[in-house]
Amino acid sequence: MARRKKIYEGKAKTLFEGPEPGTIVQYFKDDATAFNAEKKDVIEGKGVLNNMLSEFFMNGLTNIGVPNHFIRRLNMREQLVRACEIVPLEVIVRNFAAGSISKRLGIEEGTPLPRPIIEYSYKDDALGDPLVPEEYIAAFGWASQQDMDDIVSLALRVNDFLSGVMFGVGIKLIDFKIEVGRVYEGDYQRLIVADEISPDSCRLWDIESGQKLDKDVFRRDLGSLTDAYSEVAKRLGVMPKGATPMTKPTLIN
Ligand code: 5GP
Repeated sequence: MARRKKIYEGKAKTLFEGPEPGTIVQYFKDDATAFNAEKKDVIEGKGVLNNMLSEFFMNGLTNIGVPNHFIRRLNMREQLVRACEIVPLEVIVRNFAAGSISKRLGIEEGTPLPRPIIEYSYKDDALGDPLVPEEYIAAFGWASQQDMDDIVSLALRVNDFLSGVMFGVGIKLIDFKIEVGRVYEGDYQRLIVADEISPDSCRLWDIESGQKLDKDVFRRDLGSLTDAYSEVAKRLGVMPKGATPMTKPTLIN
């Protein structure tokens, strides 16, 4: 198979030039990192699970009319996505306190928030993705006021969709992070949900037991990450019958 051009290698994914202009192949690695890559490991099967779960969530968003970059899954570890210009922000939506907001404000994890709270981090690994006020976003030209209106609308629609889907399988959506990309259509630009939606970028707690089924299992050494993600995939009917996530890489470059 022809060697493909690598565009970017991130902590959990590698991007390759896609087969047609305006497309990208997103390859999901097994690498897990936390605390700005201070903690690292390779969790066999994680990439396969996140590829399938992100496909499931993005397809769900497409079905309810929320624009996103997903085109189709190519194989166990890769999906074809639409190329876009990533807005340099992590858009975080919180329904219940956990993680950094709990630490920052001294709110016990699991406390319901009065309403969904949206916050933004500036995407910069060297700076540790610092939380930024909206004032910075316009001032530094990362996104316009119109973009911010669209980002809030996308974030809240993703929140409603994900909360509902997860609630249906007995899981509480505590919080999540999305990234947004800009695409150009003629003279117009549009913002779409990009990157991935998976247990790497959400907090998911079992409604009954409170068991964590997300990347906090890795961050906080709470057991097997693959078991946690497999549980989410099984409940959503995403894992094909008889499949195991321990599939060896099918890579191609
Ligand atoms: P916190 O600010 O509490 O650490 O994270 C809030 C939510 O955003 C969590 O669901 C967390 O997984 C997600 N999140 C925040 N920063 C990142 C990041 O750099 N990468 C990923 N994958 N998720 C993030």
